[in-house]
Amino acid sequence: MNPARPTRRQFLTGILATAAVGLLPMPAAHAADAPHLTEDDATAKSLGYVASAAKAAKDPAYKKGSSCAGCALYQAAQEKGGYAPCAAFPGKAVSKSGWCRAFAAKPA
Ligand code: SF4
Repeated sequence: MNPARPTRRQFLTGILATAAVGLLPMPAAHAADAPHLTEDDATAKSLGYVASAAKAAKDPAYKKGSSCAGCALYQAAQEKGGYAPCAAFPGKAVSKSGWCRAFAAKPA
C-alpha cells in the first residue's frame, strides 16, 4: 500500500465530513453578513436566479406566484433586510422576492 495514498475508508470519511459541514446551518451573525447573490454569479446564471421573480415569467420552469419567500430552501429565520441564506447558494443571501429553477415549494 502506498502511504501517501488515502485508503478507501479515509477517502469516504473525508467526503462525508465535507458533506456534513456543508449541511450545517450558518451561524446567525455570519448569515446576516453574507453577500447578496447577484444575477451575474456563475451559479446564479446556471440556475436562472433573478432577484425579482417577475423577471422569471418567461422561464419555462417558473410557476406564477412562486418566489424565494415560498421556497423550502430559503432560510427565513435568518432573514435580514429581505435577504436570507439559501441552501442552493452557500455563503450568499438571496432576495425573498427572487426565484431560481431550484425552487421547491414549502410543504403546505
Ligand atoms: Fe430562491 Fe429557492 Fe432558488 Fe434559493 S432555491 S434562490 S430560495 S427559489
